[in-house]
Amino acid sequence: MKLIEGKPIAEAVYAECLTSFEELRAAGHLPGLAVVLVGDDPASRAYVGSKERKCQELGMHSVKIELPEDTPQDRLHEVIAGLNADDAIHGILVQLPLPGHLDEDAVILRIDPAKDVDGLHPVNLGKLAMDDSTGFAPCTPSGCQRMLIESGIETSGANVVIVGRSLLVGKSLALLMMGKGEGGNSTVTVAHSQTKDLAALTREADILVAAIGIPHFIGPEHIKDGAVVIDVGINRIEDTSAPKGSRLVGDVDFEAVKCKCEAITPVPGGVGRMTIAMLMANTIRACRHRAGI
Ligand code: NDP
Repeated sequence: MKLIEGKPIAEAVYAECLTSFEELRAAGHLPGLAVVLVGDDPASRAYVGSKERKCQELGMHSVKIELPEDTPQDRLHEVIAGLNADDAIHGILVQLPLPGHLDEDAVILRIDPAKDVDGLHPVNLGKLAMDDSTGFAPCTPSGCQRMLIESGIETSGANVVIVGRSLLVGKSLALLMMGKGEGGNSTVTVAHSQTKDLAALTREADILVAAIGIPHFIGPEHIKDGAVVIDVGINRIEDTSAPKGSRLVGDVDFEAVKCKCEAITPVPGGVGRMTIAMLMANTIRACRHRAGI
C-alpha cells in the first residue's frame, strides 16, 4: 500500500508558486488575497488563520476581513464590491459556511469571476464544465486531482466513483475527472445519500473518492482490491486518549481498508494540505492574468 501524503505534493505546488511569485514581483506585481470571515465559528477561524499564515510565508499581500455574526446581506455585498474594485486584491475568498440568515449563492454571485479563486462563481463552474482552463476550479477538487497526477495514478479510462455531490467537492471533482485534461478522461459515477446499494457501486471503482462528512463511513466492504482511495473527509471525533479530547478522522476507515488499497490518502495529512496550496496557486494565477503575464 502506498501512502499519498499531501505535504510533499503541496510543497511542490508552493515551489511553483514561489517561482511565479518572483517573476511577478520582478515585473512590479504583488499577488493579494482577501479572506472574508463572517461570525465566530472556530473551525472557519482556524481555516482562515492557516490561509493568512501561508500568504505571509509566501510573501503575498493578504487582507482578512472579519464581520460580526449578525452582518446583514447588504453589508456583505458592499464588502465584496469594495474588494472587487481594489487593485491590490487578486483573489477573494468568502469562508463558508456563512451564518444561516445569509444567502451564500447571492454572495458568490457578487464576486468578480476573475477574482473568484475559490472557483464557485457560475462563470468559473461553467468554464470547468466546458473544459476551459482559463477559469478557476474549486481548490479541494483540484487538490485531489493534483495528488493523483503527482502520484502517477492513471486516471484515463479509470472507473472513478465519488461519494458526495456537493458543489464544493464531489460535483466539481466529477467535472474535473471527466474533463479532457491531465488527470481527467475518467469514467465518473457520483453517489449520494439516495444511491441504492452503495457498496456494490463503490466496489467497481478503480479510484474511490469519499466526500461525505461521516467519520469512517467507507469500510472494506466498499473497496475493490487494489483500488486507489482519496479521503476528502475531515471530521472531529471524541477521543479521550488524545491531548485535546478529540482528533481528526476521514470519511474512510483507514486502518480497516488500507491493506486492500493500492494507494490511499491519510487524514490528517492528506487532501487537507492541498486545499490551501491550490488556493495560493489560483491567487497567483489570478495576478498573472491581470498582469497579462
Ligand atoms: P456536504 O455535506 O455538502 O456533502 C456531503 C455529501 O455526502 C452529500 O452529497 C450527501 O448526499 C452525501 N452523503 C451523506 N450521507 C451519505 C450516505 N449515507 N451515503 C452516500 N452519500 C452520503 O459536505 P462537503 O462536500 O462540503 O464535505 C464533505 C467532507 O469533506 C466533509 O467531511 C468536509 O469536512 C470535508 N471537506 C474537506 C476539505 C479539505 O480541504 N480536505 C474541504 C471541504 C470539505 P446528499 O447530497 O444526498 O445529501
